[in-house]
Amino acid sequence: MSRFFSEKLSSLEPYTPGEQPRDMVYIKLNTNESPYPPSPKALAVIEGEATRLNLYSDPTARALHEAIAAHYSITADRVIASNGSDEILAFAFDAFANGKSLAFPDVTYGFYPVFANLFGIPYTTVPLDETFTIRVEDYAHIDSTVVIANPNAKTGTYLPLSKIEELVVQNRDRVVIVDEAYIDFGGESAIPLTDRYDNLLVVQTFSKSRNLAGARVGFAVGCAELIADLNRVKYSFNPYNVNRLSMAAAAQAMKDEAYFDECTGKIIETRSFIAEALTKLGFTYPASKANFILAHSDKIGGKELYQKLKAKGVLVRHLSDQRITDSIRITIGTKEQMETLIQKIQEILEDLT
Ligand code: PMP
Repeated sequence: MSRFFSEKLSSLEPYTPGEQPRDMVYIKLNTNESPYPPSPKALAVIEGEATRLNLYSDPTARALHEAIAAHYSITADRVIASNGSDEILAFAFDAFANGKSLAFPDVTYGFYPVFANLFGIPYTTVPLDETFTIRVEDYAHIDSTVVIANPNAKTGTYLPLSKIEELVVQNRDRVVIVDEAYIDFGGESAIPLTDRYDNLLVVQTFSKSRNLAGARVGFAVGCAELIADLNRVKYSFNPYNVNRLSMAAAAQAMKDEAYFDECTGKIIETRSFIAEALTKLGFTYPASKANFILAHSDKIGGKELYQKLKAKGVLVRHLSDQRITDSIRITIGTKEQMETLIQKIQEILEDLT
């Protein structure tokens, strides 16, 4: 730390992204990326767009907003795109919780406390129940802006739409941010509820179900007033927040419903396959509606299993949260990748005996 660094930020604990190692080629199941390439329609527009890189991207992101709005049958003034959903989460925290407080689950996306600390927002964590599921009743009397991930990050557990509505109704005077990074793997989005509730903001990403993690595109949907608030923050920070190539690719990815259905369908199918295989090996896991599974074995600790898998060329995520530190989080890859993973786990378990 230099002697110039802000004292206010000196205790900041930054977010730790999953490893992106270069020492060898791994089967990479550690950051919940899609194992499939972007939509061919998205790839097809990048080259043409590249010839216009001398020009700034459209600060109003009109074409992308319109593609998202058409997909969800809403008007484009209820959408705001961002540089990854991390950015729109940061804008939302700043817009709706700065000067107030935040509440989120004890085991959830690791960026929530990081952003809260960055903006100096006090927060409380609310324990998930024993099945690692959010209990919406626990948020009824909390006088804070609420942020949850649905499906929940790290655990994959899911709340049906009726529960999300309960959460929104019981917090009508606070903004409820529902982070749907993983909603497309079998969940039902709360976006239709934003027609009726002015305190609901739904955040989504192109990084998972639309195979564009490297393009960095996310977005939020809410009532027009919430989106106008977020635009005030965006235009005070970085008006050209989504670059030209990513914007064009994301608009095409949103329109390519057939490819989206194909990729998400394969991941959902492979999730059932890996869940069954893990059960046979004696693992337990919370039911997941995400593109990952949080798996636990009584035979081997999470950290040891992670290390042994890495040595065998398979990268999963070991997380340090106390309640799940004995588990590994496995991103759903291709069927072939999952078969290799299962084979390597089998070898590791056999070596223990
Ligand atoms: N929310 C959740 C719950 C996530 O797991 C992630 C991915 N790490 C994000 C948001 C951010 O994704 P991105 O910035 O790639 O859109």
